[in-house]
Amino acid sequence: MAHDFTITFRGVRGSIPVPGPSTVKIGGNSSCVQVNALDHTIFLDAGTGIVEAGKQLVKTFIANKEKLKKLRTTILISHTHHDHIMGLPFFTPIFLADASLSIYGPSAYAPIGQPNDMKYVLDMLMDQMFFPVDFEETNAIKHVGTLKPLDQIILASGEEAERVNGAGSAHTSKDKVVVSQYRAYNHPKSGSIIYKLEHAGKTIVYATDIESYAEGDRRLIHFAKGADLLIHDAQYTMEQYTGTGTMTTQGYGHSTPEMACRVAQEAGVKQLALYHHDPNHDDDAIAKKEEGAKKLFANTIAAYEGLTINI
Ligand SMILES: [Zn+2]
Ligand SMILES: [Zn+2]
Repeated sequence: MAHDFTITFRGVRGSIPVPGPSTVKIGGNSSCVQVNALDHTIFLDAGTGIVEAGKQLVKTFIANKEKLKKLRTTILISHTHHDHIMGLPFFTPIFLADASLSIYGPSAYAPIGQPNDMKYVLDMLMDQMFFPVDFEETNAIKHVGTLKPLDQIILASGEEAERVNGAGSAHTSKDKVVVSQYRAYNHPKSGSIIYKLEHAGKTIVYATDIESYAEGDRRLIHFAKGADLLIHDAQYTMEQYTGTGTMTTQGYGHSTPEMACRVAQEAGVKQLALYHHDPNHDDDAIAKKEEGAKKLFANTIAAYEGLTINI
């Protein structure tokens, strides 16, 4: 049990949820990946995929309340575009007095006179103009942190997530999960945080909403060196990226499967999951994307909702 390190894809879409008959295999929810290690439940992004995950967590918690006492989750936000935070107001643990949420994310580009931190974004997200309940009014105990360069988050058994300020050197063990991060700026306009989760000698890297380079993103290749699983943005096909007619998705801040494979190869990762699928791609289009990518990096899978990987 102590060495379990489990990843469950809850939402694999970019930009906007796309429910419907042509997306039933891959799923239509927006970005959210659940990671379980020790007694921690960690979410990478809070797109609409987090909604169903929240309901399941509350159900399990209520059934085991005597034993569990508290429902503890940690949410790591890559950046605050809608598709990565829109599920949070509907994440039922936030309304539970027995729940505690640690939410970490980037600093915000707030208007002059407003704090440029993560808390400001959450207050805006649940502002009365957009949602009936204010973030502050929700019942859960909430801790919100704005990540700075070299910050790490340590998750030890039975304890709340703890931020280590500017250290950048905490090491993993079987008793804790260590989260490292850096902010990549190849996503308009304010970049996206790339996360690395390490536990018991295993590593997961979450790299979404980044536009890689033809020769590979050197910083990411270095960061993801030898990872057991790399979850990488692969929104566009090369045709979309290089352009047909007058349309091109170059500069939109997303990668192609070819770019993801290049990083996977150069970083020597064990497995690659293509992620943040274009909402315009149906199940067949994504199957084709996966097939093409496997030729470049054999151990590739196109992430789909409900996919669970144990590393
Ligand atoms: Zn996105
Ligand atoms: Zn984005």
